[in-house]
Formats: sequence, structure tokens, C-alpha cells
Amino acid sequence: MKTQSVTRFAPSPTGLLHIGHAVSAWFAWEHGDVTLLRIEDIDNGRCRPSYIDAIYEDLQWLGLDWPQPVRKQSEHFDEYRRVLTHLDDQGLLYPCFCTRKDIADEIARAPSAPHGPEGIIYPRTCRHLSMAERSERINRGDAYALRLDMTAAVKRTGPLHWHDRTKGKQDVMTDYMIQHIGDVILARKDTPVSYHLCVTHDDALQNITLVTRGDDLFFATPIHRVLQSLLGYPVPEYHHHPLLTDAQGKKFSKRDKSLTIQTIRNKGFSAAQLKDMIANRSFERLLSP
Ligand code: GLU
Repeated sequence: MKTQSVTRFAPSPTGLLHIGHAVSAWFAWEHGDVTLLRIEDIDNGRCRPSYIDAIYEDLQWLGLDWPQPVRKQSEHFDEYRRVLTHLDDQGLLYPCFCTRKDIADEIARAPSAPHGPEGIIYPRTCRHLSMAERSERINRGDAYALRLDMTAAVKRTGPLHWHDRTKGKQDVMTDYMIQHIGDVILARKDTPVSYHLCVTHDDALQNITLVTRGDDLFFATPIHRVLQSLLGYPVPEYHHHPLLTDAQGKKFSKRDKSLTIQTIRNKGFSAAQLKDMIANRSFERLLSP
């Protein structure tokens, strides 16, 4: 018997959904026998309840439905904290007190600072603080993030791989993770967790068998694969889809208000019309005032 594929659509309610989200949502529902909706609202400063309501409304308009209850990440901070503690107990995390400026200054001193798909690699400044310095700064009330010690992490996991439905087998090479990804943040200064931690935990918890998402997050999957290995989580299959572009191959700006699903709906278009426009890469009617 074929097992059912479980996919998910996991928007962050930091703004209104736009046509790129419509592509991603339709993609998830098309590829899953069951598709869950998950609200990734860990960023207290940027997420708003009104955007969550708008997500429900927009997805319904797109013709999609989903099982209840919907998991909202902001209701599970305790759970994520326990996962962090588990990693910390294994000596895989360290507090990082650096500001953006500290990191920029440190990089400026190193002429050939390595870069990765997400920009500059953190120079591990705080990795070298002694236990006494760490405690002193924490007790003093200095804000800190928690970083994954990638060198220690991949030493433990060894090389890994994962499978993308269109791009095939992907290797997670330990040197690549150390040199081009580095010590990623698992708990932010302003939020007690980070995207990488929550998404990996939730995909395992919700028994997601196929993660669908845009190519903009392709770089993140090796990080999630390392976390899965450290946490003993199952490895889903992945299917990253190309980002929506116009007929000239240009990506759309998320800030363009004329391309939010709400605006498109309010202009009187139907979801079927939107689907056709996306299929034909013909957006003139949406962009005209
Ligand atoms: N919450 C992420 C976003 O809105 C997507 C997470 C994922 O699909 O892994 O960009």
C-alpha cells in the first residue's frame, strides 16, 4: 500500500500573502495527499494576528482547505526551548553576544572572510569566550543569541545527504557546512528560537513526508538535515520549486502591494484567472492600476 504523502504550507504572518505565496501554496496542495497549514509566527515584532486571519481568507479563496487544528509556532516556545536544551546539553551550542557591527568589524579585520549562500560566515568570535566570560556576560544581562557550533555538529553527524524531487540526491559535506554555512543562529537575541530550529522540529513532529517550498530556501535544507541528524528526526523528501518570475524572468518584489492576493481578489479577479495568469506568466492585468 502506498503511504500517504504529508506536505505543509508554512507562511510567516509578517505581511499579506502575495502571488509567490499562491504558487507555493498551490504547489504544496498539489503534491500532498494531506497538506497541513502551519503558521510560523515566532517573530513577535513583525507578526500580526490580522495577517493570520488574512492567510486563512486568502487560502480559502485559492480553493484550499486544511485539517484542524492549525499549529501556531508562537504557542510552542517551551517545546522549542526543550529542543535547544537538548542540543546545549551535548555541548553543541554557545552564546553569541555580537552585534551586527561587531561581526562587520571582525570581518573587516579578516581580508578573506568566507561567504556562503546567506552572506558572510560568522567568524566564531564568541566561540572562543571562556566559560567564566560567558557566565559573567549572561549574569550582567547582555543580550545573546545561541549559535550551533557547526564544527562540533558535523563532527558528530559526518557527511549526510537528502533528496530533492527535481534536483536529485544532495550531499551535505562537512567542510562545506563549516566553511560556507557556519555557526547558524538557533535562538535569536529578540526571539528565543529561530526559523531553522522550529521548522526542523515541526516537520518531524507533524510527520511531514514531503517538504515543498521555494528555491530561496534551498540553502537552508542542509542545515535542517544536520539538525535532523543531531536530534534523531526522520528525513523527509524535499521538493523546492522555482520562484515566480515575470515573462522577462524578473522576480516579483514581496513589497509590491498590487500583487497581494487580497488586492487581486478585491480587483474582482477569480482564483482560476490568477492560476491562468501564473501559468502563462502574463501579469499585465494585475499590474495595471
Ligand atoms: N515560514 C517560511 C516563510 O514564510 C517558510 C518555511 C518553510 O517552508 O520551510 O518563508
